[in-house]
Amino acid sequence: MKGRVFLVGAGPGDPDLLTLRAARELSAAEVLLYDALVDPAILELASERCERIDVGKRGDGSRGVSQDRISELTIEKACEGKRVVRLKGGDPFVFGRGGEEASALAKAGVPFEVVPGISSAIAAPAAAGIPVTDRRLASSVAIVTGHRGKDAQDPHNDWEALARSADTLVILMGTAWLEDIVARVIRGGRDPATPAAVVERGATPGQRVVRARLEDLPREVRAAGLAAPTVIVIGEVVRFREELGWFEARPLFGRRVLVVRAHEQARTLCQELRRRGAQPLQVPLLVFESVKDRAPLEAALERLELYDWLVFASANAIRFSGIADALPGARALRVACIGPATADAAREAGLRVDVMPEQRFLPEDLAVAIERAGPLSGARVLLPRAEAGLPTLRQALELRGAEVDDPVAYRTEIPRGAGKALREAVDGGLDAVLLASPSSVAHLATLLGRDALASLARSSAFFCIGPTTAAALRGEGVEAVAVSEQQHEQALVDTLERWALEEPANAVS
Ligand code: SAH
Repeated sequence: MKGRVFLVGAGPGDPDLLTLRAARELSAAEVLLYDALVDPAILELASERCERIDVGKRGDGSRGVSQDRISELTIEKACEGKRVVRLKGGDPFVFGRGGEEASALAKAGVPFEVVPGISSAIAAPAAAGIPVTDRRLASSVAIVTGHRGKDAQDPHNDWEALARSADTLVILMGTAWLEDIVARVIRGGRDPATPAAVVERGATPGQRVVRARLEDLPREVRAAGLAAPTVIVIGEVVRFREELGWFEARPLFGRRVLVVRAHEQARTLCQELRRRGAQPLQVPLLVFESVKDRAPLEAALERLELYDWLVFASANAIRFSGIADALPGARALRVACIGPATADAAREAGLRVDVMPEQRFLPEDLAVAIERAGPLSGARVLLPRAEAGLPTLRQALELRGAEVDDPVAYRTEIPRGAGKALREAVDGGLDAVLLASPSSVAHLATLLGRDALASLARSSAFFCIGPTTAAALRGEGVEAVAVSEQQHEQALVDTLERWALEEPANAVS
């Protein structure tokens, strides 16, 4: 039986610039073959069961997998009956050899579909504030490859003729030959004073743009050290950048922000950061694991009918408690959750949430909210918790007369490889560090050591969700720039934005 191949465009890099269709095909894929330059956040859209094959160029420029081998692999997997996504940067049919891959599939009789993507040829100029056509200045655009392969004579591109035939030239893969290209375009009759620009990593948080007169462009680009991937734009439309440069004007543009939450919890936060222009560096410092000795927890779950309240201070407590399986016994119980994310997880597990604090999502507020729903004196409370969790909530409940059982449901560990990834992020320069739990503070301090943590705190701003996180950070000798009271990502990123308005951006960006 033959499967099906989808040649899917991944857009210029930002996961938000993926088409809905691309996202759908990714999540349905059984095999995913992808190139370099594809953001990890895009790869995450594939299911955990999907086989991922990296066929991209290596950092040293050598091809990891030859073009023939890529086609072979794609055909092989399709012939196993698999649903295969071949993910390519930008649009699959704008350079990048998507046409050749489609031909190979057609020859092999493998059914395929093409899912167009937003090409960097359009997205990079747009993010630089350059409309490639405009009724006032340009009515045609040519998209050209600057790569002339092994043949120095460049038989394909007649640059002199191109210079005369299209108002705007958009050149991909051209940085290495910028001097030659510019010389030939001028020789073809373009005014050396024509506005021109090079956009590096366009439409991504790392975007850099050099704008210059055409004849000065190579020198200025070399001076700024721009390197692939870049798009070169030549034409009067480049003038518009001054007026229309919106990308760098976003509040968090160019800020490198360390996000240490566990993968599954970091997604929306990173998305929100990217939307406002920041570059999130995702280094999870936490993995959650269930504990070896689950006897106390299981014993409690077997006697669920003895409790009046089931209280959760985190979504993980729900996930690892196994409460979904114990549900029949939980029918009569009342359920309290510390905040919206926890309440969502409870509902997903099939529980009805009776109580949640209204504004602030702190242990004390949860205890007050529960008491408002009924006297806590003498009430029996089951509170599944993290191994290293703070006793604050337990104490707040006991203070009001509750009898609390708090069996350990899960523990947090430092993920393998986190130390190396963390040092790389720190060495690359960080503007801000976001911390959402006391355990992430503890792991950060363990991995960096006190001196490196202190030096990081001098060069970047620390932001905490919740006063307990801030207190843990203070315990390590670092004061947070701001503490947001809400668990919500939006609130945290708002705080970051207010800070960024006051703080000039770091030189690293
Ligand atoms: N199919 C792709 C192009 C593949 S060729 C597309 O439609 O975008 C690879 C070239 O694309 C790079 O050498 C560079 O010129 C360009 N490119 C890809 N992503 C880019 C980005 N984010 N910013 C600038 N140029 C990019």
